[in-house]
Amino acid sequence: MPRIAVVDRERFNPENSQLMMDLCPVNRAGTECISIAEDKKIAIDEKTCIGCGICVNRDPAKSITILNLPDELASQPIHRYGQNGFHLYNLPVPQFGKVVGLLGRNGIGKSTALKVLSGQLSANLGDVEKEATPDDLIAFFKGKEAQAFFEQLKAGNITVSYKPQQVDLIPKSVSGLVKDVLMKVDERGAMDSVVKELEIENILDNDISNISGGELQRVAIAACVLKKANVYFFDEPSSFLDIKQRIKISKFIRNLADEHTAVMVVEHDLIILDYMTDITHIMYGKEGVYGIVSSVKTTRNAINTYLSGYLREENMRFRDKPIQFIEKTEERKAAGELQVSWKGIGATLGKFKLDAKDGEIHKDDVIGILGENGIGKTSFVKLLAGVDKPEKGEVDENITVSYKPQYIDTDSELTVAEVLVDAISKYSTTLIAPLQLEPLFERKIKELSGGELQRVAIARCLSQKAGLYLMDEPSAYLDVEQRLSVSKLIGDIIRERGASSLIVDHDLLFLDYLSEKLMVFEGKPAINGTAVGPLEMAEGMNMFLDDLKITFRRDPDSHRPRINKEDSVKDREQKKAGKLYYS
Ligand code: SF4
Repeated sequence: MPRIAVVDRERFNPENSQLMMDLCPVNRAGTECISIAEDKKIAIDEKTCIGCGICVNRDPAKSITILNLPDELASQPIHRYGQNGFHLYNLPVPQFGKVVGLLGRNGIGKSTALKVLSGQLSANLGDVEKEATPDDLIAFFKGKEAQAFFEQLKAGNITVSYKPQQVDLIPKSVSGLVKDVLMKVDERGAMDSVVKELEIENILDNDISNISGGELQRVAIAACVLKKANVYFFDEPSSFLDIKQRIKISKFIRNLADEHTAVMVVEHDLIILDYMTDITHIMYGKEGVYGIVSSVKTTRNAINTYLSGYLREENMRFRDKPIQFIEKTEERKAAGELQVSWKGIGATLGKFKLDAKDGEIHKDDVIGILGENGIGKTSFVKLLAGVDKPEKGEVDENITVSYKPQYIDTDSELTVAEVLVDAISKYSTTLIAPLQLEPLFERKIKELSGGELQRVAIARCLSQKAGLYLMDEPSAYLDVEQRLSVSKLIGDIIRERGASSLIVDHDLLFLDYLSEKLMVFEGKPAINGTAVGPLEMAEGMNMFLDDLKITFRRDPDSHRPRINKEDSVKDREQKKAGKLYYS
C-alpha cells in the first residue's frame, strides 16, 4: 500500500530531529529512513518507512503524519510541496459556459488547484526536483477533460484571471486610490459598468488601505473581471460580504460564464455555492497532508453528497456521519424562563442611529441575527452585553453575558493553551475535542490563521460561565465542515446549560441549521438601523427575504435550504402565497 509522510515544517522543532532518528526502528536497523534536511528538520523517506507511527506519537509538536493511501487513490500526485509536503491528486476542470464550484475543507488543496490551473504555481507531478512542462501535463491527463484544457493553455488560447482568497492581505502589496488601482488593470474598458454593478462607486476616491473587508472583496472581484481573460477564478468571493451583497455578487459571477468564458469558484457558504455554480467538484482527504479532487457532479448532487459524507462513485467515506437538516416545525415551544428584556432602546454612534423595539430572550433560545453590514447588529449586541450603554430605553439583564466579538485581537504573545486554561480544564471533551484545538496548544495567538483564531475565540466564549452567549460572526474564516459542527456545538451547549444565545452571521445555511428564532435589522447602512424581534424563524425569514426579493425551498433529499431560481414556478408560487421561506 503506498504511503505518504508529511512533516509540518512550521511546527516541527529541529531540536527533536536527532530524537526522531534515534527512535525510528528503520534507522536503528541501519537504513536511513529519517534524515536531517537542509533546514535542520527531518526528512522521511516514504519508501523505507514501515508506518510504525513511533515518530508520529513521540513528536512533541504533533507535526508528523504518516498515512497509508488506498491503492486506487494513490495515483501520481499532480503536485507536492517539497519532499514531505502536502500532496494534491487530480485537478478540477474549468468548462466554458459554466460556473464550476469547488467544495471541501480548509487545507485540502483548493487554492493549490486554482493556482495550478491559473498558472501561478508550476505543478511538479510529485517530483519535487522538476517542474512539469505543458506537454507533461497534457500526457498526464490523456483521455480526460483536463487534457483539452492544458492543450488550449499551451496553444495560448486561454488567458486566466484570479481573485485571491485573502483579500485582507491586498493592502500589503497594492497601494493607492481604489480608482487608480482599478484603472491600471482595466484591460476590457469596462470599469464604469463593473464599478456600478459591484456598488463601489462611493469608494473610488478612498485609499485601498482605508476600506473595509467587504469593500476590499468587491474591489478584488472588480480587478479580476476587468482583466481580459476567458477563464476566471474566484477564491472565496463571499467572505466579508453581507447576505445582500453575497446574492448580488453571485448573480454577477454567474453572468460572466458564456460559450467563450469559463468560471471556477471556491466557496464555503453552501447557499451561495448552490446559487452561483452549475457543477461542482468535491475535494476530500486530510487537511495539510493530501487532497483528492472528485469527479464533477451537478452542484445540487455535489452538496447533498458532501453532506452525506460518502462518495458513491469513488466508494469513499470521508466523514463518519452524515450532516442532517431537520425540518423545523411550526409548533411553538413553551417559552422558557425570561433571561433578558429590552424596551425601546436607542443609541447614536457618530452619524449612525440605532433603535431596537421591545424584545425578550428566554432560556434555551438560540436566536440568529440577520441584516446588512453597517446596520447596527454589532452595536446592538454590545448594548445587550453591557459593553455600551443605551441613550434611551432600558436593558434589563439579570444574567451574566459571554461575548465573542467580530474582530478578534490577534496581537497576543500568549499561547492557545494559556488563553484556553478554563476550557482545557473543564471542557476538553465538549469544546476542545470537537473544535480540534489540541494541536494548536503550543502556538502563539498572533501566529494563528483566521480559522484557527475563530475556533479559539468560540471555545473561550463558550467556556465562560454565563446565561447569555453573544457571538458576532462565528462562521467567518471557517470551512463548511467547521461551520456545521460549530453550529451543532453551540446549540447543544446552550440547551445543555439552560442558557441562551444571540448569533450574528451572514451565512444563511449556518443560521438556518442553528437558530430557532430570528432578529432582523432593517434600515440604511451607516445611517440608521432598526432591530425587530426575536421572531419565529418563518416570520423573521419572510421579513428578511422580502427585502432581498428571493424565496427559499428545502431540498427534498438533504432538507437543506436552497434559493429558488428567480421567476421559477416555485418562486412565483411562494411569492404569491407570501411564504418566502419554504412552501
Ligand atoms: Fe520511522 Fe516511519 Fe516509524 Fe516514523 S513511522 S518511526 S519514519 S518507520
